[in-house]
Amino acid sequence: MNVLQEMNKYGHEQVVFVRDEKVGLNAIIAIHNTVLGPALGGTRFWNYATEEEALFDVLRLSRGMTLKSAAAGLKLGGAKAVIIGDPQKLKSREFFHIYGKYIDSLGGKYYTAEDVNINATDVEMISEVTKYVSGTPAVSGNPAPFTARGVYMGLKAGASVKFGTDSLKGVTVAVQGLGNVGYALCEYLHKEGVKLKVYDINPATVEKALKEFEATAVKPEKLLATECDIFAPCAMGAVFNKDNVKNLKCQLIAGAANNVLMDASVGDTLNDMNILYLPDYIINAGGVINCGMEIPNGNYDVNVVNSNVDKIYDTTLKIIALAKEKQISTSKAADEYAEGIVCGLLYS
Ligand code: NAD
Repeated sequence: MNVLQEMNKYGHEQVVFVRDEKVGLNAIIAIHNTVLGPALGGTRFWNYATEEEALFDVLRLSRGMTLKSAAAGLKLGGAKAVIIGDPQKLKSREFFHIYGKYIDSLGGKYYTAEDVNINATDVEMISEVTKYVSGTPAVSGNPAPFTARGVYMGLKAGASVKFGTDSLKGVTVAVQGLGNVGYALCEYLHKEGVKLKVYDINPATVEKALKEFEATAVKPEKLLATECDIFAPCAMGAVFNKDNVKNLKCQLIAGAANNVLMDASVGDTLNDMNILYLPDYIINAGGVINCGMEIPNGNYDVNVVNSNVDKIYDTTLKIIALAKEKQISTSKAADEYAEGIVCGLLYS
């Protein structure tokens, strides 16, 4: 893979490759854009099969962070980091201290936080050697509950357009992935009288959801084609491609997972199928809104965070309206909206 060519394709400012032989650290920090402010984005710890796979992931995810923060009205840029390797084998205080020193050396251009396989304890260890960390347990903490709240608000906004009411009582929602965000989303939905259909690769979580939310379990091979009003992808990315979307029986897609569309053309296909897709980075911005309030070492106030997260409802409506006005898919409308803010051309 030609790194500079790839950076050029996505518009990256800087990509830093980091390694330390002693602790087995191999990481890539991708700073996509700092026009609006310092770049915030979590660190993902994943046993990527190849370096190319890791680079592809970090470039896409970091660009998504720029768009996410811009659309959420934050004065922050976008970045992401990936650590390549087995988290179970590599994690230690020394490991995170060495990694943290590399983050520190960027002088505040990049702030890290939690992501897949990086939890609040890991973030706390990183914060022992650098102040360029957010989502620390002592301040803003785990972003997932805020992400779930934002997805719920976005989902209600989408329902108001698609079903003529934002009341979700009696609506059927299929949730893929019952982790930190997916499970918390189910709590919101269950409270509002939603009929839940669920699937997770972890059977124990499914069992718990069946009891707590009177949910119905769906087999993995039947999940995409399950009858439901709303499909909520809350596991990993690249869930929908141009072929498998033809099996969908929902009217609305709204979830937490990043990069759920294999590529932009899938957004067009969903549009043609009259399935309303709520762009991932618009409705899953609750976590970054929460962590962003810690930067740069600002006054953290959970009430302000919640009220800003609730604005995702209005942002979602704006994106849907923009898509309608321009006769484009909602995913393209979201990109246009967020890129317009970064370029200072529109909507600021
Ligand atoms: P998590 O690791 O807590 O949960 C993921 C869940 O998905 C786990 O329960 C796992 O068993 C399950 N899973 C994995 N592969 C699956 C599959 N193929 N089918 C069904 N279930 C599967 O992660 P999370 O924090 O809940 O985040 C969920 C998604 O939302 C991720 O894509 C993440 O990048 C995205 N996201 C999270 C946040 C946040 O604040 N945590 C913010 C924005 C976006």
